[in-house]
Amino acid sequence: AKDSGRGNRQFYATSMEASALDVLHQERLLRDAIAHNDFVLHYQPQIGLADGTLQGLEALVRWRHPERGLVGPDEFITFSESRGLITPIGRWVMREACRQLKAWQDQGLARVPVAVNLSALEFRQRDVAAEIAAVLQETGLAPQYLEIELTESVLMHQTGQTLNTLHAVKALGVGISIDDFGTGYSSLAYLKRYPIDKLKIDRSFVTDIPDKADDVAIVTAIIQMARSLQLKTVAEGVETQGQIELLTELGCDVIQGFVVAVPMDAQATGSWLQR
Ligand code: C2E
Ligand code: CA
Ligand code: CA
Ligand code: CA
Repeated sequence: AKDSGRGNRQFYATSMEASALDVLHQERLLRDAIAHNDFVLHYQPQIGLADGTLQGLEALVRWRHPERGLVGPDEFITFSESRGLITPIGRWVMREACRQLKAWQDQGLARVPVAVNLSALEFRQRDVAAEIAAVLQETGLAPQYLEIELTESVLMHQTGQTLNTLHAVKALGVGISIDDFGTGYSSLAYLKRYPIDKLKIDRSFVTDIPDKADDVAIVTAIIQMARSLQLKTVAEGVETQGQIELLTELGCDVIQGFVVAVPMDAQATGSWLQR
């Protein structure tokens, strides 16, 4: 693409216009979706390795896109953030997850927490603790049945505000997990400084165990460190029996992944819970 003749400039100008139009189009669709709550939550079970019992459900958002069907979060969360539209989506997710879990509990299902993902930007932009308190009040869900999942990037902004918010969330009785653990720049000191309950070992470290020695070493080290800091461990993206065997041997507490169940819509989750 070194050839920058007239034809090429023309091409670039046109394609940039097209993509700007597309951005506007997608933004308009997203605004419509927010106005009409055109999102759904899927739920993925988390299972205790010691006894195979249900330990939690992670809520994962999807956009019911009018042209493209169900669209996953990797395709619209970052875009939503860049258009300043993440806050209403995140608020809907939190409220809907709590409402649904309370509904299941009222049916005698799911006496386990629901975990909700919050991006670093959401965590900074929203008054997370106040919002959670209001949603728990509104839905009647007891605080021990809600967890938030934060990435390491939240903790790297070592501001007093981060610490205050985490303590306020903790004081409500809501659990705090570190998502995708091991992928960020970890200053391990923050694991002591912040009131964290769980580490979720990123899927990238789980995928190639037990075959890849490096990954076995990393997963082993994370589990040992977590245990000595009295943090629970959740292995993400568990797909095979071989992974389960090693994780059990290493003393991992909880697994989540396709080997247990894929994320399911609310109806399928309800059936799964009654299985
Ligand atoms: P995550 O929090 O790490 O969620 C786990 C992702 O891994 C999910 O993708 C899930 O479907 C997928 N997964 C689960 N088990 C397996 C497995 O065994 N193998 C493989 N290959 N994949 C597995 P999903 O639903 O597409 O979500 C992607 C990411 O989007 C999430 O990663 C999370 O960071 C973000 N996300 C999801 N929901 C929300 C939300 O409500 N708010 C925000 N801010 N982010 C969200
Ligand atoms: Ca997560
Ligand atoms: Ca994760
Ligand atoms: Ca992830």
